[in-house]
Amino acid sequence: MKKKFLLTFLMSFCALLTIALVFYISSFKPKSSSFCPFCDEKAINYQKYFENENIIGLCSYKPLLKGHCLIIPKRHVERLEDITDLEMQDIFHLIKKTHFSVQKILNNKSYIVIQKNGKEVGQSVSHLHFHYIPRKENGSNFAFLLRFLIYPFKTKLHSNEMQDITSLISQNL
Ligand SMILES: [Zn+2]
Repeated sequence: MKKKFLLTFLMSFCALLTIALVFYISSFKPKSSSFCPFCDEKAINYQKYFENENIIGLCSYKPLLKGHCLIIPKRHVERLEDITDLEMQDIFHLIKKTHFSVQKILNNKSYIVIQKNGKEVGQSVSHLHFHYIPRKENGSNFAFLLRFLIYPFKTKLHSNEMQDITSLISQNL
């Protein structure tokens, strides 16, 4: 009886994992239209916590974890090799400033910076962007990795929550 239950549980778990993986991999596909969300002022205005003449800092509308930010060049460029040295300098300066700001809010020392070039490696928006993802030290590794797996199922932040986090990060920069 126990064996049967275990087998059913394992089969259900594998089926769920397969479905999650299919959704995750399909989320890698870039949008087919020429619409770029990062070039659309209306789409990104409410996510903005920093802006200068070259770059913009955005809070992710679907954060993997609280404090998940995106740092992008203002110009529409697709890949890392397309940006100027000045844009690169501003981007890395903002990543550092973003970390110090988020650290004041969440007290996290650890973080990941992710940047993808090409749909084959999972670039979902064809406008160069760097993810800044903070991580608290006391969480489990499995739970942290699981967040990447369930990311496609996450819901968008409510506008009030977005306003709170953008103001907080902006104030602490
Ligand atoms: Zn763009």
